[in-house]
Amino acid sequence: MNSHYRVVVIGGGVVGASVIYHLAKMGWKDVCLLERSVLTAGSSWHAAGGIHALNADPNIAGLQAYTIDLLQEIEKESGQNIGLHMTGGLTMAGTPDRWEWLQSAYRVFQSIGIDDCHLVTPQEAAKLNPIMSTDGLLGGMWADREGYLDTTGTVHAYAMAARKRGAQYFEHTKVEAMEQTSQGWRVITDKGVISCEHVVNAAGLWAKQVGRMAGIELPVSPLKHHYLISDSIPMLEEIDFEVPMTVDLEGFTYLRQDQNGVLLGIYEIDYEHWAMDGAPWDYGMELFQEQTDRIEHELTMGFERYPVLQEVGVKTWVNGAFTFSPDGNPLVGPVPGKPGYWCACAVMAGFLQGGGVGKSLAEWMIYGEAEADVYGMDVARYGRFAENREYIRQTTGQFYSRRFVMTYPNEQLPAGRPLKMAPAHDAMTAAGCQWGQSWDLEVPLYFAPEGFKETPSLKRSNAFEIVAQECRAVRKGVGLLDITGFSRFEVTGPNVASWLDHIMASKLPKPGRAGLAPMLGKDGRMKGDLTVFNWGDGSWWIMGSYYLRAWHMRWFNDHLVDGVHIRDLGEEWAGFSLSGPKSKEVLEGLSNDRPQALPFMGCGNFDIGLLRTKIGRLSVAGELGFEIHCRMGDHIALRRLLLEAGQGCDIREYGFNALLSLRLEKSFGIWSTEFTQGYSAGATGMDRWIAWDKPDFIGREAAIAERDGNGPAQKLATLEIEAGDADASGYEPVWDGEQLVGFVTSGGYGHSVKKSLAMAMVNRDKTAEGTELEVHIVGVKRKAKIIAASPYDPAGAVMRA
Ligand SMILES: Cc1cc2nc3c(=O)[nH]c(=O)nc-3n(C[C@H](O)[C@H](O)[C@H](O)COP(=O)(O)OP(=O)(O)OC[C@H]3O[C@@H](n4cnc5c(N)ncnc54)[C@H](O)[C@@H]3O)c2cc1C
Repeated sequence: MNSHYRVVVIGGGVVGASVIYHLAKMGWKDVCLLERSVLTAGSSWHAAGGIHALNADPNIAGLQAYTIDLLQEIEKESGQNIGLHMTGGLTMAGTPDRWEWLQSAYRVFQSIGIDDCHLVTPQEAAKLNPIMSTDGLLGGMWADREGYLDTTGTVHAYAMAARKRGAQYFEHTKVEAMEQTSQGWRVITDKGVISCEHVVNAAGLWAKQVGRMAGIELPVSPLKHHYLISDSIPMLEEIDFEVPMTVDLEGFTYLRQDQNGVLLGIYEIDYEHWAMDGAPWDYGMELFQEQTDRIEHELTMGFERYPVLQEVGVKTWVNGAFTFSPDGNPLVGPVPGKPGYWCACAVMAGFLQGGGVGKSLAEWMIYGEAEADVYGMDVARYGRFAENREYIRQTTGQFYSRRFVMTYPNEQLPAGRPLKMAPAHDAMTAAGCQWGQSWDLEVPLYFAPEGFKETPSLKRSNAFEIVAQECRAVRKGVGLLDITGFSRFEVTGPNVASWLDHIMASKLPKPGRAGLAPMLGKDGRMKGDLTVFNWGDGSWWIMGSYYLRAWHMRWFNDHLVDGVHIRDLGEEWAGFSLSGPKSKEVLEGLSNDRPQALPFMGCGNFDIGLLRTKIGRLSVAGELGFEIHCRMGDHIALRRLLLEAGQGCDIREYGFNALLSLRLEKSFGIWSTEFTQGYSAGATGMDRWIAWDKPDFIGREAAIAERDGNGPAQKLATLEIEAGDADASGYEPVWDGEQLVGFVTSGGYGHSVKKSLAMAMVNRDKTAEGTELEVHIVGVKRKAKIIAASPYDPAGAVMRA
């Protein structure tokens, strides 16, 4: 072991081994992995080794597909057998909604290029897996690239392939502490001290403690998980093929062949956390006693689904632990505020996701960015609120117990809520507000009559008419929206203007003005769809998506220079927006400063009643509108003031569901659907805000290369869809005949234009207005047509009125 490495990876499970493999493969060979026991000694040795394609996040599904393709490569490279059995896989649906959902999921896979799947009838599924009873099953999805592997062999294969490429690993070397230095980290082990530039926490069941060694509280917890291995099953001895990896979604089980028996794994409804502070240091390669009482219900369903299990005994029980983050996705990437400390932990399905995690992390460390859009597993998608133990307990438990439960797009889940509430929350609840959640904050969805309950649905729900009324109120009169759920950063200091000019691709607004500001990465892909406010008093704000607060703050801090100070105002400022033709009327009489006279995109400091506020004249709804920001403590008073002043104009409170529909009618993209770090400015149309004549901004060269080269292969377009009773929601494939020409980024109903609308990334040659296409919605192909952007008020006249 050397005394210095460029990178020290802590943890010799499948994830750590994949990280050193990918680092070495991409050229960083001065790396070592430290393992306190032997390779695989955490969760990895006792995993079921199943690999299957399905994941609710298409980007994660893409990385899973990468991992599956990689497995044969590392086997070949290392010479280590990984016992890969590519049996193919079945995912079965047992309720009408689930069957519809699975058909939609199949279409989403087509959108993202996973093309080895097809739908099967229960009869076809029975032939593929003859030990499965098809009672109650409505259909399934077959995927070629599913199966299982030998877990110990796989970890060794990654490690040996890494070693062949120049990386090192050391077993029986425990990291006991670490210290940050000016050059990186000092890693203190029981075998000596190593200095390094980067450390990677791939400590699996011990990730919590390895985080705490650096003062980091990671939102991660182990939970227990059972599978059984059956005795030999006569029918399996007779057939000349292996049964496929089979997931029975309604039964909470997965099954694969194990020699002539089967392995049946259970996602446990009555879940149990274990060692929330991380596994004990002396925890060996141990298992827990099986707890069949706790999983009796799921077991019974499993034995009914596979009746042969009723005739043979259980050879082995495995009750082991593995780790979960609040949303079940890994925690990967650079930890905010800890330069050189990287995470590769909370990987729930390490054999399925480990390859993608290792690849993305290695790219991130070496090139500064991962190739794929890895926001879904970025450690910075959580803020400090997620350090709370009870939050972690509730959310990880909810994810685990709902692993195979279908979540509807309009469904609100209870774990970790309510957490943060804007001061006017209770008054808004009394007014009928139904709440959703953004990050830690409760945000208004819509205002419903007393006793209303929204039915979870893949299609238009019973809240459709309520949202329609709210949209009409905004378009015809005036709507009031709580905008505490926007992010606000204050930027001060002598070098603010030059710094903003460098990190934003757009022209900076003049004093008293706000401006839309695309923020790009070095590679020209999006890092933000922000709004910059120049308040005219020397202070500046950046506003964006609330749930990206920690993610954006990491970016700002990573690029900060002397003479600039940036502060997240999310705990200090809140606000309301007024949108609609009568917005100005509401403001009449509330202020001598006449904020209603602000020009479009104007902004400034104004007294409103007794309150000191900051107001910008802009509206995401595409109306004449004002965003009024107040101190958190003034939130209740501001709401009351605006509602009273708006009485004569029939002011109506509304929520984000209506806003999503209103902005769609304007073809205004939003982050995470139209804008992601996977898309370039050119593809999203945000290049229209780029100040090409600026000599310097991050991403300039890449943006110019895109502009002057062939341009993006796909562009954002607006579609009108003959939708029926369901609207597009995201990632549905867009077809020109049988040719896949794009995918939906978001969709919904435009209540003013009375059309089902969608925005979509479409091959450039198919984006001409009037092009007839088709889109799958909830599994059904619907006619669609490219229409001109902004079907409501295309010239933007009402916004500027
Ligand atoms: C019953 C069961 C079935 C499963 N089935 C599947 C499946 O079918 N498919 C699938 O993909 N996944 C499955 N999993 C999940 C899978 O096991 C995990 O996702 C995976 O093992 C996580 O790997 P890891 O490398 O992150 O962590 P771990 O395997 O826990 O590895 C972490 C390593 O870090 C070492 N370490 C920790 N702290 C230190 C320190 N301070 N110094 C040095 N070394 C340290 C540990 O000794 C350990 O070896 C299953 C899990 C269980 C429990």
